Amino acid sequence: MGHLIPLVQFVRRILEISPFQFSFIVPTRGPPTQAQKSVLAAFPEGRVTSTFLPPINLDDEVPPNAKIETIISLTLARSLPAIRAHLSGLQGSHHNLTALVVDLFGTDAFDVALEFGMKPYLFYPSTTMCLSLFLHLPQLDAQISCEYKDMQEPVILPGCTPVQGKDLLDPTQDRSNDAYKWLLHHCKRYQLAEGIFVNSFNELEEGALKFLQNHEPGRPPVYPVGPLVQIGSGDDDEKVDGSECLKWLDEQPRGSVLFVSFGSGGSLSYNQIIELAHGLEMSEQRFLWVIRTPNDETLNATYFTLEGDRNNPLDYLPKGFLDRTKERGLVIPMWAPQIKVLSHAATGGFVTHCGWNSILESVVHGVPLIAWPLYAEQKMNAVILTKGLKIALKPNTNEIGLIGRGEIAMAVKGLLEGEEGKKIRNRMNDLKDAATRVVGKDGSSTKTLYEVVQRWKSH
Ligand code: UDP
Repeated sequence: MGHLIPLVQFVRRILEISPFQFSFIVPTRGPPTQAQKSVLAAFPEGRVTSTFLPPINLDDEVPPNAKIETIISLTLARSLPAIRAHLSGLQGSHHNLTALVVDLFGTDAFDVALEFGMKPYLFYPSTTMCLSLFLHLPQLDAQISCEYKDMQEPVILPGCTPVQGKDLLDPTQDRSNDAYKWLLHHCKRYQLAEGIFVNSFNELEEGALKFLQNHEPGRPPVYPVGPLVQIGSGDDDEKVDGSECLKWLDEQPRGSVLFVSFGSGGSLSYNQIIELAHGLEMSEQRFLWVIRTPNDETLNATYFTLEGDRNNPLDYLPKGFLDRTKERGLVIPMWAPQIKVLSHAATGGFVTHCGWNSILESVVHGVPLIAWPLYAEQKMNAVILTKGLKIALKPNTNEIGLIGRGEIAMAVKGLLEGEEGKKIRNRMNDLKDAATRVVGKDGSSTKTLYEVVQRWKSH
């Protein structure tokens, strides 16, 4: 969903300024989720169709512990005949096929694009910094023989804040794993793209974009088209009726509530949940916490002597916590209508796992951050937030890998009440203005889209 939603917004923006028609082709491993279906069904009639390809079975080739990058890449590779058949069908019904835009691990479909005389493009749903790493990875792979996490020096990507090898995205952390091999495979093919769309904008990643926008042989043009974020309510999402937390927010003072949420799938260990709960309590600030069942629930089964539903995440909170904090905190299980929460006047800060969509949504709504990266490329994103843009505080992890309650309380207080929090809020507001400008009529992202449309028309 974190890739599909910005792609859908990308298409919406192009629909506004061009006569093109779009066809979404979604490789699958099982039946599509309701969320996928509803996000694709929300287009106005006529100009957009979507097709879920026949599910791919990977049981023969993929071990149960295969990483997501391997699974996505193989699913796409095995879906190529179905993609070919779909494009053939479109051609047969007299459509002029212009461009094929693939997601970041979809480069194997470039060959199919060329077979049909289409221009191959890539949609990169994360940061320009991460894109820069992808473009540089083949070179890094040739230069460095150890694991990146063991490198003494940070990795320097032009125009970006230096980043330690251990903070590079997950699939780079074990070079012997198939996930890394797939990653490298795709990175090597990025140069075959006619252009790369990135969900970012100049004011957010000025240095990185400036470098990548300089023409260099072998590197496709990079088009910053962000921020592409879900607009409106996200109500088509059937996971939640968000009315309880929105009603609660209505009753809180302006800018006073810290929103705590770890993306669509992030979860914490049991011990970390306990620390977070105590930290929030010690901070004496208002909070709205989206809580999930701990990710080590089975390992720590003996910790839980609680009665009731073991899958109810609220059962894992410290004893008496809900009661002690009921005047100023709300804990909701699993899911919240994040866009509505971030755009609510009572929301004054956001503890985020640093997923790029969450970051862009915070920027669009001017909400200052506490960075709590968990997986994927989130540690790199946290570097951008804390060292680059300085729009987030980051509590430290202790020697046993936990963020302790004292650190949490300090960061929360610092963000909502401290001097540093004020500075962060001001910087965030400047970025919010820039985010509004770039997607406006004469904004840079809008102009970039016009340029692309002209290219497609001439093709
Ligand atoms: N989201 C939401 N409610 C939740 C958790 C997440 O609406 O309780 C949405 C959020 O607004 C964002 C997406 O899910 O659009 C998460 O994307 P992100 O890139 O931040 O993280 P990911 O889930 O891909 O790790």
